[in-house]
Amino acid sequence: MSDLFATENFTCLRTNLQQQVCDDRTDAWPAEQLRVMADAGVMSWDLPVEWGGLDLEPVDQLEGLRLLSSACLVSTFVLTQRSAAVRRIATTDNETAKQQLLPGLLSGDIFATVGISHLTTSGQHLKTPLVQASETAGGFVLNGVVPWATGATQADFLITGGTLADGRQLLAAIPTDAAGVEVQPPVELMALNASQTGAVKLNELVVNKWQLLHGPMEQVMQHGTGGGAGSLGTSALAIGATAGTLRHMTEETRRRPDLVEFVAPLQAECDQLTTDLRLAATGDHPAGAAAVEQLRRQANSLVLRSAQSWLAATKGAGYVSGHPAERAVRESMFFLVWSCPQPVLAANLRELACSGSTVS
Ligand SMILES: Cc1cc2nc3c(=O)[nH]c(=O)nc-3n(C[C@H](O)[C@H](O)[C@H](O)COP(=O)(O)OP(=O)(O)OC[C@H]3O[C@@H](n4cnc5c(N)ncnc54)[C@H](O)[C@@H]3O)c2cc1C
Repeated sequence: MSDLFATENFTCLRTNLQQQVCDDRTDAWPAEQLRVMADAGVMSWDLPVEWGGLDLEPVDQLEGLRLLSSACLVSTFVLTQRSAAVRRIATTDNETAKQQLLPGLLSGDIFATVGISHLTTSGQHLKTPLVQASETAGGFVLNGVVPWATGATQADFLITGGTLADGRQLLAAIPTDAAGVEVQPPVELMALNASQTGAVKLNELVVNKWQLLHGPMEQVMQHGTGGGAGSLGTSALAIGATAGTLRHMTEETRRRPDLVEFVAPLQAECDQLTTDLRLAATGDHPAGAAAVEQLRRQANSLVLRSAQSWLAATKGAGYVSGHPAERAVRESMFFLVWSCPQPVLAANLRELACSGSTVS
């Protein structure tokens, strides 16, 4: 494990994030949180060394995400969407796109996000792809609606794609001020409103050669990089959010020792999942490749149970709008819908219906 997380610099960053609670409103944006992250070097974690980054080992990147999300979930979530954009750019063979984008992403001067769920999870039951691509002499044209893009209102670039009539898909880096791009206002969410998540309409959007990152090819999202739906990164955030909740509950036990009985097993489970996350990241988890899905399922279950336990412990006071416990409950629900593969969702639904083995 990198000693980066034991430095005073990183400890200050976490304290800073814990103290600057971001409002849960669609007109809020965690600009200050992202700035302190950039100042602390977080934007270099995922960039290749040849582009000035640290290119941390996956186990370290996940440790960083886990620790940051325990301090502030919304800004860490926004960071993951930027990271997903960075990964798609860093793994392209298109050197021009890298030159145009990676230096600004490293310094924090450019913010990029992803709108890619329609290529993996969203709208998969629809006959017509949500974003249709067609080939032209100079490149491609995209038409349709990107249903989800976090921080699109704040982004300089959107990494998104479309599907050609023959089923092949492409991914491109689109300037959000390009002709044919219409960023929609953020939707009102159950939580994480400051992520300014919403749809982006694409109308006869011309994709130039330098903007093309991957494809056209079958299943473009499976190309070049991990980090697909339900990746270890998503579990790192669920485990981190749990750790944040349990930190508050542990504080409460100082005044109310009767709560220890309930906090202790949740904390033990959280510690075990943290160990499992590290093992999965280094390829040493006994479940092998199946660990990724297993972890997300367990992390989803734990983050929901921990947040609801905190709410129950705080009683009516915790149910009042604005109390951190009610916010934690709303935020925990996010993991049921964000980048959640079908088998994980099915397992969570089974648990909720009490028909699984986890509840007796
Ligand atoms: C806060 C938030 C932020 C997000 N940020 C991003 C982001 O930055 N980038 C990104 O790419 N994605 C993002 N996502 C998308 C996310 O990762 C998932 O892809 C998304 O939540 C899947 O939900 P959906 O409504 O699009 O799914 P869909 O599968 O499209 O479901 C939509 C509706 O369609 C109907 N339906 C579904 N399946 C069927 C079926 N088989 N038959 C009939 N009807 C059906 C149901 O009524 C369902 O409610 C975000 C999501 C959230 C909630």
